[in-house]
Amino acid sequence: MNDLIIKQAKLLNGEIVDVVVKVGKIQAVGPSVGDSYQAEREINLAGKLFISAGWIDAHTHCYPASPIYYDEPDLAGAASGVTTVVDAGSVGADDIDHFHELTQQAKTNVYSYLNISKIGIIAQNELSDMANIDNDCLQKAVKRHEGFVVGLKARMSKSVVGENGLKPLLRAKEMQKENGLPLMVHIGNNPPNLDDIADVLDKGDIITHCFNGKPNRILDQDGNLKPSIQRALARGVILDVGHGGESFSFNVAEQAMKIGTYPDIISSDIYHRNRINGPVYSLAAVMTKFLCMGFTPTQIVNCVTNKAADLLHLDGKGHLTVGADGDITIFDIKDEHIELSDAEGQVRFGTQRFIPVAAIVAGESIATKEGESDYAIHL
Ligand SMILES: [Zn+2]
Repeated sequence: MNDLIIKQAKLLNGEIVDVVVKVGKIQAVGPSVGDSYQAEREINLAGKLFISAGWIDAHTHCYPASPIYYDEPDLAGAASGVTTVVDAGSVGADDIDHFHELTQQAKTNVYSYLNISKIGIIAQNELSDMANIDNDCLQKAVKRHEGFVVGLKARMSKSVVGENGLKPLLRAKEMQKENGLPLMVHIGNNPPNLDDIADVLDKGDIITHCFNGKPNRILDQDGNLKPSIQRALARGVILDVGHGGESFSFNVAEQAMKIGTYPDIISSDIYHRNRINGPVYSLAAVMTKFLCMGFTPTQIVNCVTNKAADLLHLDGKGHLTVGADGDITIFDIKDEHIELSDAEGQVRFGTQRFIPVAAIVAGESIATKEGESDYAIHL
């Protein structure tokens, strides 16, 4: 809860502003407003670096005790310029208490989607045995962790559900009625088929891995949106990128955007392995791929700030406005020739790149590696 004034920060619309953070909240934003306040610390960006509301990565795996998809919240988060990470179902009711306890040490804000399987992703097939779906345990876990658990997660692909087909999803939709939380559904290999999955989703539910190149892709063979996806989007179903090691195809994303279908949320599906070895590396690296595909910086940053916060109902997050949480990302957009790979080995060449310089969480500042070395940021 440090008090802080950021001076001469650039917004994506070109405006130069100061931001005052007091007791963890944004107290003032605007041209030269910093002159009227005092704080323990001041950062002057001299009009050279951008700021936005703190970046939110809406699909991560950061339960450090997970046997497969483990990571540290601060490595996926603050060290990469991300102020808030949402874990997408690494744990179910069995491990949510432990996960919550571990997150208390993190500088990054952490939220969790609760896996509908009580065992979480301790194996790749957490929904292949219907006995792992225990409504009583799930509802109690949701109640115990109100404000930390912000949604439910169901991984609906063949390797996860085994012979159970659509059954786990139908159970998830029933369990959701008791708590009103959004449901995030992972899509990939079939069965179950995407049409059947999409048809049971409601407004506010989230399809993640929306630009995957697997059989359950959102496009038909002619490159048009599958009718089931058209219907889902018309009902208010949300599209989340969830890049991951296997779930992002440039071909699908480019074609989707060509026919006017854009992601609502840009997220990474990061965990230690795809963070270190790629093709994910960081949320910023995923955002850079959208720059390369012609999405504007403002569109991209909206997808990791206000849109992510509003669609996931993260109160106080995602807005650089008075009264909001004092979460800010300082970043640069640098002209640079860069080679980018999707999850299928396809390559594109970009000319600009997002570089996170620092994450500020409730007024506390954490520089990224590049912030320290290339930008010599003084926090
Ligand atoms: Zn995931």
